[in-house]
Amino acid sequence: MKKFETLAIRTQSERSQYNEHSTPLHLTSSFVFDDAEQMRAMFSDEVEGNIYSRFSNPNTTELIQKICALEGAEAGWATATGMAAVFTTFGALLKQGDHVLACRSIFGSSHTILTKILPKWGITFTYVDIDDTDNWAAAVQENTKLVFVETPTNPGVDILDLEWLGEFAKENKLLYIVDNCFATPYLQQPIKFGADLVIHSATKYLDGQGRVLGGLIAGKQNLIDEVQGFARHSGPALSPFNAWVISKSIETLAVRMDRHSENALKVAQWLEKHPQVELVKYPFLPSHPKYAVAKKQMKAGGGIVSFIIEGGVEKGRQFLDALKLVSITANLGDTRSIATHPASTTHSKLTEEERNEVGILPGLIRISVGLEHADDIINDIKQAF
Ligand SMILES: *Cc1c(COP(=O)(O)O)cnc(C)c1O
Repeated sequence: MKKFETLAIRTQSERSQYNEHSTPLHLTSSFVFDDAEQMRAMFSDEVEGNIYSRFSNPNTTELIQKICALEGAEAGWATATGMAAVFTTFGALLKQGDHVLACRSIFGSSHTILTKILPKWGITFTYVDIDDTDNWAAAVQENTKLVFVETPTNPGVDILDLEWLGEFAKENKLLYIVDNCFATPYLQQPIKFGADLVIHSATKYLDGQGRVLGGLIAGKQNLIDEVQGFARHSGPALSPFNAWVISKSIETLAVRMDRHSENALKVAQWLEKHPQVELVKYPFLPSHPKYAVAKKQMKAGGGIVSFIIEGGVEKGRQFLDALKLVSITANLGDTRSIATHPASTTHSKLTEEERNEVGILPGLIRISVGLEHADDIINDIKQAF
C-alpha cells in the first residue's frame, strides 16, 4: 500500500491519446456513445462509463478516487459545495420520522439544516454536549438513525473522541458520520475509528488556496449507493473545473497541512503568553482539555486557533479592524491567514443563549493560520492588540 503523499499525487485518471503528464480538464456536459446498444447498456448500469456530467465526469471521478484512497474509503461522491455534501447525505439516508444525534457545536449551515430544513419533512434531532459521554446514551431514541459530528469543532476548536463515538454508534446500531473538514485526511482518518461516512467541504484545506467551492462524501459502498441515487437526480454535481482544481491541490495537501500546523502551533504558543488573552484553544497545546484525545487521533493540530480576547465584543471587533496582514473574510483553510469574530458574524443569528451553549463567547476570535511566514503572522497579531 502506497503512502499518503504518493496516493495524493499518483491517484490519477488514465491518460488520453495525447499522453499528458498532468490530468487535463474535461469540460463537457455529456459523452458520446458508440451506438444505441452501448447507450442502452450504460443507462441500465450494465456497463460503466460516462453519460452526463451531472452523473460523472473524468475529473470528478479522479477526485473521488483520490479522496477514497486518502480516507481509506470504499466509495465516494463529489458535490458542488460542502453544504451540498451535508444535505445530500441527510437527504439520501434519512426519511420521515427519523432522528439525528449531533454534537452541539456544528458548522452554522449544518445547524440550519437540522433546525429549519429537516423538520419540514418530520426529521428531528437532538444536540449532545460533547464533553459528557453519558449524554450520548441518554439521547438515543428508538427512531435515532445517525450520529453527525465535527472534530475539531468550528469555531471553538473542541475535540470529540472519534474512537469512543465509533463504539457508541456501533453499540446503538447508528450510522456514524464525521465532517472531517478541519483536519483533512492527512491529519485524521475517521473511518479508522469506525465512521461510516466522512464529509468534506473541499472549499477549505483540500483546495487550500481560496479559489473554488466543492464537497466530498466518502465511506461505505452501500451508503454511497444511496447518496449516488439521490444526487444523480437532485443535481448537486461538482463542476469538472472545480474537481480538476481540487484534485491538483490535494497533490500538495500533506506539505501544506504540515506547515499550517507548524505555524498554528507557534501562533497558539505566542497567544498563550499574551496578558490580554483569556484562553487559547488549539488541539496540540497541552492546555487543551482534550490534548490526549487530539494526540491519539490527529497527526498534528491543524491550522485553526481560537482565543478569547479580554474586553468582549467591542475589543474583538477592534482587534479585527487593526489587523493589516491577516484578512477579515468568511473562509478558512487558505494560504492566507484569516481572522473572524464569530459572535458578530457567522453566529450572529443565534441567540446569546445558543451562542453560550456552543462556547461562542463575546471575545472569541478564530484564526485560520495560513502559510505566510509565522513571524509575519505573529507580528501582525501583536500590533493588532
Ligand atoms: C465551510 C464548512 C462547511 C460548508 O462548506 P461549503 O463548501 O462552504 O458549503 C461545512 N462544514 C465545515 C466544518 C465547514 O468549515
